[in-house]
Amino acid sequence: MNYIDLRSDTVTLPTQEMRDAMYNAEVGDDVYGEDPTVNHLEETAAEMFGKEAAMFVTSGTQGNQICVMTHTNPGDEIILEEKSHIITYEVGGIGRLSGVQAKLIRGTKGAMDPSDIKAAIRNDDIHQPKTSLICVENTHNRAGGTVIPMDILQNTYELAKNYDIPVHMDGARIFNAATYLNIPVNQIARYADSVMFCLSKGLCAPVGSVVVGTKSFIAKARKFRKMLGGGMRQSGFLAAAGIIALEKMPSRLNEDHENARLLAEGLCNIPGIKIDMETVQTNIIVCDIANLNMSADEFSSKLYEKGIKINGGGGTTVRFVTHYGIARSDIETALESIKSIFDKKHIS
Ligand SMILES: *Cc1c(COP(=O)(O)O)cnc(C)c1O
Repeated sequence: MNYIDLRSDTVTLPTQEMRDAMYNAEVGDDVYGEDPTVNHLEETAAEMFGKEAAMFVTSGTQGNQICVMTHTNPGDEIILEEKSHIITYEVGGIGRLSGVQAKLIRGTKGAMDPSDIKAAIRNDDIHQPKTSLICVENTHNRAGGTVIPMDILQNTYELAKNYDIPVHMDGARIFNAATYLNIPVNQIARYADSVMFCLSKGLCAPVGSVVVGTKSFIAKARKFRKMLGGGMRQSGFLAAAGIIALEKMPSRLNEDHENARLLAEGLCNIPGIKIDMETVQTNIIVCDIANLNMSADEFSSKLYEKGIKINGGGGTTVRFVTHYGIARSDIETALESIKSIFDKKHIS
């Protein structure tokens, strides 16, 4: 069967242009700093994000973890949104690798209120850990690909500067946020000291993420990347695809957003499927199916039988993600199939 794969934008395959660029890439040993293609990717990324330096990493998880390690010391506390990727999907890495503990804040559509952040910052009391980092996620994955409003980002950053605390942005999908806001990524990145973004999601590169920040931050981060086994050798073969991801792919993300909206509008017309349409801003749709008489797993398997792959989104939610491999016609086909499964008899 030819599946319509709406599990994640990580399933995107490299374009022909990326494959050609990888085949022909000029490479060297990047641990010696001698891979010209990696250097080009890093320079391009730093420039686009308005930062001094950049570092190519194996994955978004590695990038986030290295940033936490670089900004903190063991025994510190870091502030995170309660459903953030770092706390939910990174295998407890901040505890194991950085030895820090998490102070979690519940956000609204993924955005933490700066006054909640302020209240969570520790003081000099002898009993308390030091608050050494604030992490924001943009777009916010589990909140449904929501974009953090710019005034909240700015207020968070100003607050952090008042307390001399760095801000890290998990910008795995920052290009989706920039597309939604119709601004360049550097305008978002200015409200963070470090940003991690993924090349391997909506931008279609096969492997890799990038961390951007100051020169001294990136220099320190390079040692942690080496420690974690992320010092790669002729990684220009991967970076070559990454350069195309950065230069050519962001301009088409609005197609994914339009497809997500079309899909969400169709899905919320199916009785029993609930979507907060205000969260449908980019390429992720989170649906609450508590009113259908089935678990998220049963729901996913019913769709699978009809040739549609999706993932659970935690609890009674399921998640659909649009991407380069999904055309408008796939959305129409998927909606027809889903409608045919869920007639009124399933509703409680
Ligand atoms: C996917 C993702 C990551 C991690 O990226 P991997 O390359 O899968 O390790 C980090 N943060 C967010 C918000 C993500 O969606």
